[in-house]
Amino acid sequence: MSGEETDKVTPLRPKRPCPECGRPSARETYPFCSTRCKQVDLNRWLSGSYAIPVRDDEEDDGEEPSQ
Ligand SMILES: [Zn+2]
Repeated sequence: MSGEETDKVTPLRPKRPCPECGRPSARETYPFCSTRCKQVDLNRWLSGSYAIPVRDDEEDDGEEPSQ
């Protein structure tokens, strides 16, 4: 019997490399490898497409919340 079990390979989830450093992602911080990389990406996201204006410097002079 040439019993190579290559036929019974269980379909594992394709591991996504960490978008930040390219390391294998961890389950807890998927798709990142660590909390740190997750934070890095989060910060980038926040400061990029979703910039939050600083409320302290905000002047209530007819502000128009633009997207
Ligand atoms: Zn990483």
